Amino acid sequence: MIPLMRPALADAEGPYVTRLRTSRIGTASDDAILIEGADDGSVFSGRLGLVVIDGVRAEDLDGDIVLVDPRRGRVERLLRVGSTTNTLLVTERCDQLCVMCSQPPKKTHVDRFDLLEEACRLAPDGMLIGISGGEPTLYKERLLTLIERTLAARPDLGFHVLTNAQHFEASDVARLGRSAYRRVSWGIPLYASEAALHDNIVGKEGAFAKLEEGLAHLAMAGARVELRTVVLSDNIDAFPALAGYVAARLRFVEAWSIMQLEHIGFARNRWEQLFFDHVQRFGPIAEALNRALLHGVRAQLFNFPRCTVPAAYRRLAIASISDWKRKFAPACLRCGERSACSGFFEWHPDEQAALAVQPL
Ligand code: SF4
Repeated sequence: MIPLMRPALADAEGPYVTRLRTSRIGTASDDAILIEGADDGSVFSGRLGLVVIDGVRAEDLDGDIVLVDPRRGRVERLLRVGSTTNTLLVTERCDQLCVMCSQPPKKTHVDRFDLLEEACRLAPDGMLIGISGGEPTLYKERLLTLIERTLAARPDLGFHVLTNAQHFEASDVARLGRSAYRRVSWGIPLYASEAALHDNIVGKEGAFAKLEEGLAHLAMAGARVELRTVVLSDNIDAFPALAGYVAARLRFVEAWSIMQLEHIGFARNRWEQLFFDHVQRFGPIAEALNRALLHGVRAQLFNFPRCTVPAAYRRLAIASISDWKRKFAPACLRCGERSACSGFFEWHPDEQAALAVQPL
């Protein structure tokens, strides 16, 4: 795993975005070019001065888009040219407080939309850029402006926005229906078809009702939606009913992703209370998958190591964890399905991973 942020020194005063390059061939004015490289650090030179990055080889940074913050002496890797998944965090504020939140929200917001838009414009051809928070649509106008201006300049790019869908209004329907938004998909969490259970999990009374409204507006706009449901002890027995609800009311969605819990954020300290071990009882998930697939809903399993899923459903368990935050257990070296497997999050306890795997 390569860390996202590195100590750095730079000449400029305010934060700025640049692309790091190890060669001058095909460079642009926004690029910073390698002038000195070693195993333990690199020096790049760009139009805003020198960027000195500690602890990463230049070859591992070539083509990456970074945010340089000279005052804090930090460089943040925003977009990795070699990664299939890149996500920009636009705010740490959120209006929900999910029991298992992987990125617990903060009260403050630092507006970086202009810098992030610059980063998007420098992205490699055809990149799909994830946007997350916090809750991105707390800054809906800034968010939609970033998306629209970026796609006007770079129609080859695409966006996948993680949102709780609490803030879409009828007045947004025409805008979200514009052709540019065919290159945008919305990843939306839904934890149960029973309002009280969903509200309880997201820590907000009335969230389910607001979510239904938001989904209706997105459906009216012809938006591309991926539903996301994290498996929890609290909602496992509600999965079959949720599948019925999705099949009956939300069949317009592009996909329904059923996700195993991440051992991070709030879930780290509440693991015993929240984690449901699907290896011990896969029945409710199987029933939900059967119902969804029967009605033409494209259901898929995220963060489920393939060997932990019954063979009949294994094809639905996809390699959902980004390469830079994924790990495998030692026994996985003998497995023939490793290239198609999600493996485990880097922060998953080693002993649990070792106990779970059964090489295929
Ligand atoms: S043994 Fe490892 S690589 Fe193979 S399916 Fe299980 S977790 Fe994945």
